[in-house]
Amino acid sequence: MTRPLQITVLGATGSIGLSTLDVIARHPQRYGVFALTGFSRIAELRALCLAHRPRYAVVGDDEQARALQAQLRGDGLDTRVLSGEGGLSEVAGHPDVDVVMAAIVGAAGLRPTLAAVQAGKRVLLANKEALVMSGGLFMQALRDSAAVLLPIDSEHNAIFQCLPADYSRGLPVVGVRRILLTASGGPFREVASAELEHVTPEQACAHPNWSMGRKISVDSASMMNKGLELIEACWLFDARPDQVEVVVHPQSVIHSMVDYVDGSVLAQLGNPDMRTPIAHALAWPERIDSGVSALDLLRIGRLDFQAPDDRRFPCLRLARAAAQAGGTSPAMLNAANEVAVEAFLNRRIRFTEIASIIDDVLNREASVATRCLEDVLMADSRARELAGQWLGRHGR
Ligand code: NAD
Ligand code: MG
Repeated sequence: MTRPLQITVLGATGSIGLSTLDVIARHPQRYGVFALTGFSRIAELRALCLAHRPRYAVVGDDEQARALQAQLRGDGLDTRVLSGEGGLSEVAGHPDVDVVMAAIVGAAGLRPTLAAVQAGKRVLLANKEALVMSGGLFMQALRDSAAVLLPIDSEHNAIFQCLPADYSRGLPVVGVRRILLTASGGPFREVASAELEHVTPEQACAHPNWSMGRKISVDSASMMNKGLELIEACWLFDARPDQVEVVVHPQSVIHSMVDYVDGSVLAQLGNPDMRTPIAHALAWPERIDSGVSALDLLRIGRLDFQAPDDRRFPCLRLARAAAQAGGTSPAMLNAANEVAVEAFLNRRIRFTEIASIIDDVLNREASVATRCLEDVLMADSRARELAGQWLGRHGR
């Protein structure tokens, strides 16, 4: 019997982190927990440490680390508590780690995810913002290392399952006409433009099919999630933006499709539960039980498809334009979106102003090439500054 694979879960206290731990706990012979990280909800992180007994835990700052370390010692655990970005990168790149689940939300996940790639780990990528920001550099780091990148985003995991194994030879070469990226349409799919001005954070976070963290829930409501996923698909599968078509599919049963030149369309279906892509990526190329129940197509009855509405959901159009512009544009789009979503969640702006802020930021600063990580991080800070100025000008 080989030893269990050692797993670091970055963002263990989040929605994806908890689903990952659920799958891992079903297979104690295959997987062991090496490190768990959390930024808030430290009481939950302590409970997770008690349940999974990791070698390391990582929190945001030294003070939190000291407090959690004392508690865990009192609990009789010898888990070592580290802090900050240094701690995250240490447990992502540690020589004893085999697999890293990158499930921190937002730009904060970029450096630790890159550390896992550079250290040659099997990297399970949920943190789409990291790839959106630094796409070219991220994929180059992957080629320069022995790392294996497996997509966790349900759409990209579906596309990965529907593509031939040699897709890296180029989509046209392997006979792919286009990628069909499905979108649920979010909680406001049928809400009229005028009403979108008045929707609340609670309504935005009440997704009809998926239970997720607050930031991605707002992104799903604005369709920016699909925009980020479009950029993510272009990097992961070496596709041009015009080779990726968004199809609204309200049931979220088909997780995405690949359209081939002979007219075949391959789709991956399943119940909307992130444990399926997580189990797929953990065990790939094998298959393991994820705890997700079998799909009952007779109960679902029908599958519907619609075109996305760029007028009510301008974020999708903004993301497509950023994908086409390339360079620092996607990093700026992402950073402006993070500031805008936070402001919306804190009730400082209207839902419809998320797109206004991003549009304004992208119009104020031209895209430049990204030669190194510093270029990406500078674009990220500049976009945050410009988004802050928008809030200031509008008295928020
Ligand atoms: P979440 O908000 O539930 O969890 C986020 C995690 O990141 C938490 O553990 C939190 O403590 C940690 N974190 C937040 N800010 C941090 C910081 N500054 N430094 C270090 N850690 C920090 O989010 P989620 O829904 O689990 O999403 C995580 C990532 O996965 C996102 O990038 C999201 O787009 C992606 N994703 C999520 C889903 C889903 O179903 N939830 C699906 C596809 C992709
Ligand atoms: Mg997704």
